Amino acid sequence: MALKPTTLQFKARERNVFFHLLTACNLACRHCYINTSQHGSETVSRETMEEWLKLFYTPEKESNIIFLGGEPTLHPDLAHGIHYARKLGYATITVDSNGFLFHDLLDKIGPQDAVLSFSLDGPDARVNDPIRGRGVFETCTTNLKKAIALGFDVSLIYTVSRMNLAHLARMPALLQELGVKRFFIQVIGIRGKSTASEAPLQLSPDEWLSVIPPVARQAAELGIHVIYPKVFLEEGEDFACAG
Ligand code: SF4
Repeated sequence: MALKPTTLQFKARERNVFFHLLTACNLACRHCYINTSQHGSETVSRETMEEWLKLFYTPEKESNIIFLGGEPTLHPDLAHGIHYARKLGYATITVDSNGFLFHDLLDKIGPQDAVLSFSLDGPDARVNDPIRGRGVFETCTTNLKKAIALGFDVSLIYTVSRMNLAHLARMPALLQELGVKRFFIQVIGIRGKSTASEAPLQLSPDEWLSVIPPVARQAAELGIHVIYPKVFLEEGEDFACAG
């Protein structure tokens, strides 16, 4: 069957809520986007979490929620927030995690409750761990396998920068081996620590275009659903943003 790449557009009747529960994290990734002087260092309380989930839920629209941090699984009430969002009627619930899954998250929620999205920046520890921290590849892939074995819908996010561009091509085989069916190839944002890096981490349009689309196609040919941002707009092309 011929593969047909399609451009995703945000739907007019859709509401996507990106809920940062806290800025704290157990890791110190080299490209971390959190900047505590701008984002603060507080944690949303259980009561505020409930209030905001109610406030942003719109029954007339398809409401989707994405729990983020810092590391959202460090929040002791994340499982409660997931159940609460489900009760309210959110269409999809996603947790973006670095893979550590604190507070025994897999014992407190079920596959019907949320999609788990794991961040990994390399196809092995040699590439991933200098970026995300020692032992992170092992912990992240172990928990990801556990989640798949329990029946969770999982996806994987790879943030591309000059540090790992050359290794992206090995990801489709790893995803297939792990059983991951959804792959987000993310461009590095020049925010937080990335702005202070001595070597530029951002890719040029040519570097992005010569590597990302072919790897995306390779993954798609293995039956993996791949999403990546176009990143560079043509002149006169509209910029679409989450509603
Ligand atoms: S990038 Fe994410 S996982 Fe890494 S230190 Fe920052 S918040 Fe933590």
